[in-house]
Amino acid sequence: MARVCWICEKEVPEGTEIKVDTVIRFIREMKRKLGILKGNDLVVCPAHLAAYAEKRKKFERNLVLYATGAVLLAVGIPIFPLLMGASFNPVVICFSFVLAAAVLGLSMLNYVPALEGEGKKEGA
Ligand SMILES: [Zn+2]
Repeated sequence: MARVCWICEKEVPEGTEIKVDTVIRFIREMKRKLGILKGNDLVVCPAHLAAYAEKRKKFERNLVLYATGAVLLAVGIPIFPLLMGASFNPVVICFSFVLAAAVLGLSMLNYVPALEGEGKKEGA
C-alpha cells in the first residue's frame, strides 16, 4: 500500500500515520461505495507536520464554534416560538435537530484527522 501525505497528496517514503477514526472510516466507506477509494495509507510527511498542526488547530477551533452553533440551534429554535407565545410544535423540534445535524455535517467538510498516537500522549 502506498503512503500518501495528507497535506501534499504525494507519495512519501515516511510519515506519521493518521488515526483511522469514525469519520475517516465513514469517508472511506463512502468512497468505496462510489468506487473512488484508492486504498492508500494516509500519513503526514515530516515536511508538512507544521502545516498539519496548524490545520488541525484551526479545525478544532471551528469544531467548537460549529458544535456551539448546533446546540444553540437545537435548543433555540424550539424554545423561541414558545417564548413568543406560540403553541408547542413537534415539527419544529424535528426541524431544529435536522438543522443542527446539518451544521455539524458542514464542519466535517473541513475535517482534519488526528495523528496516530496523539490520543495516547494526551492520556499519559
Ligand atoms: Zn507532505
